[in-house]
Amino acid sequence: MNRELIGAVAADTDRRLHRLLETRVNPGAAARDAAAAPLPAELLHEAAQHGLFHCALPTDVCTGRGFAPVRWGLVLEHIGYRCTDLSFPLLVYLTAGTIRRLHHDQRADLLEPLSDGGRLPLIGFAYTEQRDPFDFRGSLTRHGDTITVTTEKSIVAGARILDAFLTYVPDAQGRLTAVLLHRTDPGVSIAPLAVSGFRSAGFGTVRATDTAVPCDRIVDTDGLAHAQRILNAEAAFFVAAPTGRMRAIAEVCAMHVAATERHDTPLADYPNVQSLLGRMHATVESCRATLYQALEAYGEDDSLWSPLSWIAKYTVGQHALSVAAMAQRLTGTQGFLDTSPCARHLRDFSGLLAGGNPQEKVEIDLGVHLTQTIRPTLRAPGE
Ligand SMILES: Cc1cc2nc3c(=O)[nH]c(=O)nc-3n(C[C@H](O)[C@H](O)[C@H](O)COP(=O)(O)OP(=O)(O)OC[C@H]3O[C@@H](n4cnc5c(N)ncnc54)[C@H](O)[C@@H]3O)c2cc1C
Repeated sequence: MNRELIGAVAADTDRRLHRLLETRVNPGAAARDAAAAPLPAELLHEAAQHGLFHCALPTDVCTGRGFAPVRWGLVLEHIGYRCTDLSFPLLVYLTAGTIRRLHHDQRADLLEPLSDGGRLPLIGFAYTEQRDPFDFRGSLTRHGDTITVTTEKSIVAGARILDAFLTYVPDAQGRLTAVLLHRTDPGVSIAPLAVSGFRSAGFGTVRATDTAVPCDRIVDTDGLAHAQRILNAEAAFFVAAPTGRMRAIAEVCAMHVAATERHDTPLADYPNVQSLLGRMHATVESCRATLYQALEAYGEDDSLWSPLSWIAKYTVGQHALSVAAMAQRLTGTQGFLDTSPCARHLRDFSGLLAGGNPQEKVEIDLGVHLTQTIRPTLRAPGE
């Protein structure tokens, strides 16, 4: 990755958003986490007005200037570096991903009613049912120009904040169909969901009961592939902000050990402390390298599955928790106090294990992929 580009994106992101993050988002992070209070949607709109999405969205949506995957990933990483509430970049990457998908599907007509004079359309992704996708419950039936939808999506980030949800429901033939539901549609209800991390992301269960909407809300009749394309396209962006946060945590630890003395000696001068800090630094930089590799390989090919994106999600998911735990070792009691963000970050990072796709399932996919890649190159004995 070009270091100049990293620096330029960081400077540009600071110019646009540093003030908003420092004065509006960060100050309430601990209190929102304690109360599980959702981030105000207005913060997303304000961030959009400051140009947060300029390299994430198409030119005709909000303040977008066209999708530049590497730059967008670097913006998210820098937001994570600056922002102590990881729910904010979680909602940011999700919103950008669903808008981009609908735009790619040439369904700008679905974005317009949610834009309200150029505002950011706030759309979530409602997929999970804690069942196998081939066995999803619910129904979608068609009567003339109307469809009637019944579904229950168990865990949706931004459910309590966002205006609409890309939802996946089996039709009369059992084929999963992608459909857009608005939170104000008749029969749609949102139940708050208590979670252990990303507590200000407004998690909830989204239900639709006999919700009748125009049939042009159908986005794709192959909902399974549609959902996989979103999950695949967003896997690396999901872990970009946590990677930035890991770097910030390592730097805070370095400052703490330099400023703390035991036996008249700065902690930073003890070899055991240097070793742990060094391990943390190496871990963070390994995650950054893996993320950058995924961002640079980001395809425009609309893939169902891209190994490097999932390797990035997997690698950051594996290491983020250990970085948070190392921070607690290095900061002693300080890291244990409620005034420290250590425990909050530990809980947030735990969401990377299941989020997107559980780590173990990613391992299986990667193992299968490698076998399939290697098999055609094998020669039979004697060849
Ligand atoms: C931070 C966060 C944000 C999220 N945001 C959203 C959102 O916005 N919208 C949404 O729809 N969902 C969201 N989710 C849900 C998330 O996508 C699911 O939790 C994830 O797909 C895992 O599904 P599950 O909980 O059913 O896990 P399970 O499938 O129950 O997995 C549990 C364990 O079983 C193993 N396992 C499961 N199936 C298999 C198999 N076939 N073969 C081998 N092992 C298997 C897994 O590897 C894992 O170890 C979010 C989750 C988190 C943590």
